[in-house]
Amino acid sequence: MIKVQNITKDFGKLKVLRGLDLEVKQGEVVVIIGPSGSGKSTFLRCLNHLESINSGNIFFEDKPVGFKQTPDGKKIPIKGKELCQLRSQMGMVFQRFNLFPHMTALNNVMEGPLTVLGKTKPDARDLALELLGKVGLANKAENFPSQLSGGQQQRVAIARALAMQPKLMLFDEPTSALDPELVGEVLSVIKNLATEGMTMIIVTHEMAFAREVADRVIFMDEGKIVEMGNPEQIFSKPRHPRTREFLSSVL
Ligand code: ADP
Ligand code: MG
Repeated sequence: MIKVQNITKDFGKLKVLRGLDLEVKQGEVVVIIGPSGSGKSTFLRCLNHLESINSGNIFFEDKPVGFKQTPDGKKIPIKGKELCQLRSQMGMVFQRFNLFPHMTALNNVMEGPLTVLGKTKPDARDLALELLGKVGLANKAENFPSQLSGGQQQRVAIARALAMQPKLMLFDEPTSALDPELVGEVLSVIKNLATEGMTMIIVTHEMAFAREVADRVIFMDEGKIVEMGNPEQIFSKPRHPRTREFLSSVL
């Protein structure tokens, strides 16, 4: 589904991604762990072209992310509607929920299907209600974000991302901004998505969750993938000293 080849990303002199390779297959759940500043968020943002890479390639379903090929073989950047369409196939959920504060939960979830997918109001409403049900918030459809807890807001944000009917979900520390007692309800929604076969790349500091949900775990440090393996390998038998050091600091 997604193929990343030797990508780099600099911010001025700062080399944030230093040659990353990754392939993710349909239905796979990949969890990325690593210290703060190691480039995890930047990596996710490059995947859906919120940031553009300096070198290397990213393919989403065999199409280069952020570019299209002209008939004579030139690569030109995509923008506007095409970029919107690309992004709509990769749902992204951030640490901060970024809901529209002046819209109800229902309208937040309906917005994308109405404006980007061109659905009719009744269709968008049906879909939104179904998704709010799925994240356990059928009874909060008419609430505004300020009337919801952080965990509920984040579940609305997940429903909103799902409303675009993405093929891939990207989560960037979806529970880091939550009070501890609200973390579980959000993780359980993500676990359900995994069970349903959603392809996901998840950056998280929740190690028990990572262990449970991941098909593959990636340990990133200083803009590189240091180690990658199944949860058992990474958490029980990490090979690299940096991985061991990181795990002993968080576990
Ligand atoms: P992580 O998510 O692993 O904590 P980030 O990808 O957010 O790491 O950041 C990696 C590095 O890139 C950090 O040093 C950060 O300060 C820097 N960085 C991130 N975004 C920008 C930006 N837009 N401009 C300049 N530096 C940035
Ligand atoms: Mg980050």
